[in-house]
Amino acid sequence: MKVVDSPGKSKGKNAEEPSLEQDGQTPGVRKEIIKKFPVSPNLQNYESEYASFDWQDARKELTWFTGSKLNAAYNAVDRHMHDGKRNKVALYAIDAKNNLEKFTFQDIYEESNRMANALKELGVKKGDRVFVFLPRVPELYISTVAIAKVGAIAGPLFSAFGPDALRDRLQDSGAIVIITNPELKPKIDGIMHDLPDLQYTIVVDGDKSKLKDREYAYDDLVSKQSDKFECERTDVEDPLYLLYTSGTTGKPKGVVHVHNDIIGHHMTSKWVLDLKDDDVYWCTADPGWVTGTVYGIFGPWSNGASVVSYEGRFDADSWYKVIDRLKVTVWYTAPTALRMLMKAGDDVVFRNSLESLRHILSVGEPLNPEVVRWGMKVYGLPIHDNWWQTETGMQLIANIPCMSVKPGSMGKPLPGVYAAVVDDDGEEVEAGKLGRLVVKPGWPSMLRRIWRNKEKFDEYFKIPGWYFSGDNAWKDEDGYFWFVGRADDVINTAGHRVGPFEVESALVEHEAVAEAGVIGKPDKERGEIIKAFVVLANGFSASDELLESIREHTKRQLAAHAYPREIEVKDSLPKTRSGKIMRRLLKAWELGLPTGDTSSLEDD
Ligand code: ATP
Ligand code: MG
Repeated sequence: MKVVDSPGKSKGKNAEEPSLEQDGQTPGVRKEIIKKFPVSPNLQNYESEYASFDWQDARKELTWFTGSKLNAAYNAVDRHMHDGKRNKVALYAIDAKNNLEKFTFQDIYEESNRMANALKELGVKKGDRVFVFLPRVPELYISTVAIAKVGAIAGPLFSAFGPDALRDRLQDSGAIVIITNPELKPKIDGIMHDLPDLQYTIVVDGDKSKLKDREYAYDDLVSKQSDKFECERTDVEDPLYLLYTSGTTGKPKGVVHVHNDIIGHHMTSKWVLDLKDDDVYWCTADPGWVTGTVYGIFGPWSNGASVVSYEGRFDADSWYKVIDRLKVTVWYTAPTALRMLMKAGDDVVFRNSLESLRHILSVGEPLNPEVVRWGMKVYGLPIHDNWWQTETGMQLIANIPCMSVKPGSMGKPLPGVYAAVVDDDGEEVEAGKLGRLVVKPGWPSMLRRIWRNKEKFDEYFKIPGWYFSGDNAWKDEDGYFWFVGRADDVINTAGHRVGPFEVESALVEHEAVAEAGVIGKPDKERGEIIKAFVVLANGFSASDELLESIREHTKRQLAAHAYPREIEVKDSLPKTRSGKIMRRLLKAWELGLPTGDTSSLEDD
């Protein structure tokens, strides 16, 4: 096996490119590995830690109240009043106009105490649902912490949600308070008649003269409050937040997580994000999604890390400028963003320095090997893919810094996590065989309930002894896990089972393809054929020759049965608001079937 081990950081056009050797046997199997990490990682020896680690040990890293009570917000913020981090920057907030505001841990402590007192004054109690519908402004972070301090259940909502997405979540959760701003408030006002449980609206930076009954200006509420607050002595099993899944495969599910989750947030932020004292860390995910809440707030703050929040929209140059301006060292983003950055080209990368970066991570969708290879070329660093779900509440499988990265693989299960690939009876299959990705229950951040839906919750545990993820995967001889597709997305063509991810990854390796979504299309002869929808890269236009060249390229990369017989060029692919390709919509459109729940669709 060829190891690429380029010493030091070699960003730039001359950076060593990882070599690629492809195994002719199994489509998608690549022998390429990248062994490169610029600093000594927090988790130094995966094998020995995996063999000896027990979650009981991790409990010592958190601060507990007497009687084994644990509050996630206390651990994220309050404890830093006593560990020397009081004056450290907790939040670098860049607003939509590019103004920078800094908040120390003491600032966040005092502001969240004030907000917690204000919520108490409104009568918010333990267990009440308080939702936050704000862009990435400091009040979003402060409110989320404050809600947890009161022992209420926080519900972050993505600011781009339309009325249907909002109604679904607010109705389902029975939220009694919503915190929003003047730009977003009309969306709530428009559906207020459908929200009988909603009692109060708190408006950040609003025109006070426009407020109606039961509406409060954030400043008025908090400014008169004390900056001291006794955090609720929550039990480990008390709910912390209610997060809705992305809606990629159907209607979003309301996943209930508890204060015990912070144990998992803390350890994974340490091991996988590899946060250290002098890091400046940017998680590009919005706290409306699980990644933005867990790894944008609780996990890094529990480790006392400085977090960046950027209110602006995606744009390659602006993003790189955030990195240079704040000297971001650790950067956690998503495949869609990385594919868009790749599409924006290399020049914009080299116009910026990006010298501060030392660790890049990705989650949310499969990360195409081509993107990892491109990352090596332009950033001089491997992108560390990791796998988890809203339901799992923390990273479970990851390319941990001390391990070699295998482009296209999600990595290995974290210490304390037992993941496996099983058949329909729950029996583990041998290495290299496709099956269902499952995990042994018992990690600290596992979902506790699906809000008001016991039946759905039970489905996750339908294979006895396992948590059933709904994803398909296979494991290689070295113990690395490889994502194949959602269980429902796997294509059965002429007796072969083909995952959409491997075909999509082969497609985006072609210079003309910027993005690809692949489905199985019913076919009399073959059961299903592979159909690909592609978005072309800038400068390419569709022609029969081009499509033939893409088809030929895919055929060369994959086994003969796994190439797309049909390729259709589209201007864009349907995506969830969190940026995931919605293959179920491509399929429904192709077959003229009902589209189901589309409230998560990006531009509805
Ligand atoms: P819904 O459950 O509503 O259909 P969703 O599954 O997309 O939406 P999330 O919880 O946000 O909601 O996403 C988890 C899913 O994202 C995983 O089950 C997996 O399919 C995909 N995913 C996450 N990380 C990775 C990764 N590193 N590689 C491949 N797929 C990933
Ligand atoms: Mg899911």
